Amino acid sequence: MLKTLRRIVEEVYAAKSSNNALDILVERIRAAMDTEACSVFLLDHRRGQYVLMATDGLNKDVVGKLRIGLNQGLTGLIGAREEPLNLDNAPEHPNFYAAPGLNEETLKAFLGVPIIYRRRLLGVLAVHQGKERHFNEEEEAFLVTLSTQLAPILTRVDVSAMSPASSRRTDEATYQGVGSSTGVAIGTAVVVYPQADLSAVPDREVEDIDVELAEFETAIEAVRNDVRMMRERFATSLPPAEQILFDAYLGILDSNSLGGEISEKIREGHWAQGALRDVIQQRVRQFEDMEDEYLSERATDIKELGQRILARLQSGQNNKTDYPPETILIGEDLTAAELADVPQERLAAVVSLQGSANAHVAILAKALGIPAVMGAGEISLGEIDTKPVIVDGYYGQIYVDPPESLRKEFVYLAKEERELDASLEQLQNQPAETMDGFRMQMWVNAGLDSDASKPFKAGAEGVGLYRTEVPFMMRERFPTEQEQVTLYRQLLKAFAPHPVTMRTLDIGGDKPLSYFPVEEDNPFLGWRGIRITLDQPEIFITQLRAMLRANLGLNNLRIMFPMISNVGEFDDALTLVQQVYSELKEEYPELVMPKIGVMIEVPSAVYQARELARRADFFSIGSNDLAQYLLAVDRTNSKVANLYDTLHPAVLMAIRQAVKACHRAGKPVSVCGEMAGDPLAAVLLLAMEVDSLSSSAANLPRIKWVIRRFSLDQAKQLLRDTAAMESPIEIRAHLELALERAGLGGLIRAGK
Ligand code: PEP
Ligand code: MG
Repeated sequence: MLKTLRRIVEEVYAAKSSNNALDILVERIRAAMDTEACSVFLLDHRRGQYVLMATDGLNKDVVGKLRIGLNQGLTGLIGAREEPLNLDNAPEHPNFYAAPGLNEETLKAFLGVPIIYRRRLLGVLAVHQGKERHFNEEEEAFLVTLSTQLAPILTRVDVSAMSPASSRRTDEATYQGVGSSTGVAIGTAVVVYPQADLSAVPDREVEDIDVELAEFETAIEAVRNDVRMMRERFATSLPPAEQILFDAYLGILDSNSLGGEISEKIREGHWAQGALRDVIQQRVRQFEDMEDEYLSERATDIKELGQRILARLQSGQNNKTDYPPETILIGEDLTAAELADVPQERLAAVVSLQGSANAHVAILAKALGIPAVMGAGEISLGEIDTKPVIVDGYYGQIYVDPPESLRKEFVYLAKEERELDASLEQLQNQPAETMDGFRMQMWVNAGLDSDASKPFKAGAEGVGLYRTEVPFMMRERFPTEQEQVTLYRQLLKAFAPHPVTMRTLDIGGDKPLSYFPVEEDNPFLGWRGIRITLDQPEIFITQLRAMLRANLGLNNLRIMFPMISNVGEFDDALTLVQQVYSELKEEYPELVMPKIGVMIEVPSAVYQARELARRADFFSIGSNDLAQYLLAVDRTNSKVANLYDTLHPAVLMAIRQAVKACHRAGKPVSVCGEMAGDPLAAVLLLAMEVDSLSSSAANLPRIKWVIRRFSLDQAKQLLRDTAAMESPIEIRAHLELALERAGLGGLIRAGK
């Protein structure tokens, strides 16, 4: 049963469209359970009705047309109770409803299970049998397990698009993720699909069949060579009976077998990877269906060969990704490097199936000022490539193949967004001052965006955070002291005399260095940030020397330590700075000791802010990590992204407490996490009277606008209101209303 279950799930997930997936689903379940019928009803949440989406065994003519009420029939009962219903004789049940045209009244035995995804009811899956009988426990468990495993793919079906008047099915789909960088974009999907994952290969047509055939031949020949080498390598160590395996592999790859079939498909106009996917998947199914255990196991060999050929094909086409204008980059778990591969002027938005709003790829998108949606896990990469797509970074929605009416609406919203940004450019030389005269310093987080002119256009008054690990991550070895001097000096010079806050190397967590691997079970709680640099003083000292040397004659450098969790770490780090300073001072008498600060991003630093404030010159609150550690929510994990919220009362209370402790000691506090660029949070940070906000250059003018539209008194009232609230949802709703009332609605949704 387990094998059958796995196969059904694989086949449904490999389907070319959501509608195709539904048909496969009912057919395979009916066959596997040997029943007379299998049907699936999905809930149209908008209209509050169940829609028959597919059936095998009942009347197909009513698919897409038949709708039943929320509480109607056995389907309604299963949905309301959210539990399975197993009946020997369904028509005798008081809730039985003979839906017109479905013809189910002749069938007696019935087993129905709810389809639930992340606590949300999606619909009901049911099987019917002509005779009276009771489905046994194993059958019930089978259907429940299938329903759970298939639920994610069923979220993709746009039930409301099934017009009650027609059975026309549509492939346009809406996906939901977490809006992680605001803005809207309309463009073309370019999928960065996982290497050597056959099921993720999209469909594409080819223009030059000969080129495609030649690439396939090269790939298959390379795999043949691999196999021959394997055979030689094992010539003496494997018994002859086992060595036959390699001959079998070569046989499968032969042009009279698999190789020939794939070439044939390419000649029909499929690209090599798509042809390979189809042929391999078909063969795998054939082998898996074989009764003979030995032959059925050969399916694994075919899969293995398929992956190998795919890996060869992909390594050959790596560099030739075509990025159309308005590229919407989509990937399973997008990395900063994949994003950086796209020419900036062509990148319109990013969508990642995994990850959450505070993953560094989302932060990079914010820095570039493009919308991002993270955790859009239900998208099928194979279906979306090259399709027209709309991304709404405010609500985290992705529309694939949108209808013209929706496209027009978003074209209009995008135009309004551009107009809003253009109007905010006028604020460039205006101070970030509230209506009652409170002045906020507006700084930028630099280093992610290579366009150095953006902060100035945005009116930045300094750099609140320069993530020095970024240039380390772009290299294949540690940069030398001189390389670092050049880099840092460029930045210091560009901003002089304004302050530039450089954070010492913050690697570990989700920021690994390829050339300095750290393997840990809990990287966010492990060797990270200052912990690494204190343990590897040679790396730290080189960086500190470079920073101090770069600052010669400019004197606008501030140094800040990440991940400080106790005062001892600060003392040790400061000792190293003083040591470097003394050594360099002999060589460069004009050398100036920079101000030294601490990031408050670990809860223990909040509670020791007073002690730290006696030592440090300034503070910067890293709200991204602080929220992660306070709420015990991995900031990159899409499964718990709904729990990550910087407007959580505990996060707000911690920040308030830290700001107070630092101010009592007379030390300035900045906020440099993503909160500083969030218009809702910015109002509360203003109320706490933080000294500066450091956000991406793209967000800066928007935050300045917020500050200029409020008085400190109004902001303080909002802080008092929200301090009495218990949940982030309540707080968010209250702040959104306040922004709308202040005429700032354009900052929290698409449009002006
Ligand atoms: C933070 O944690 O808020 C922060 C600014 O640092 P990073 O996002 O680089 O970890
Ligand atoms: Mg951090």
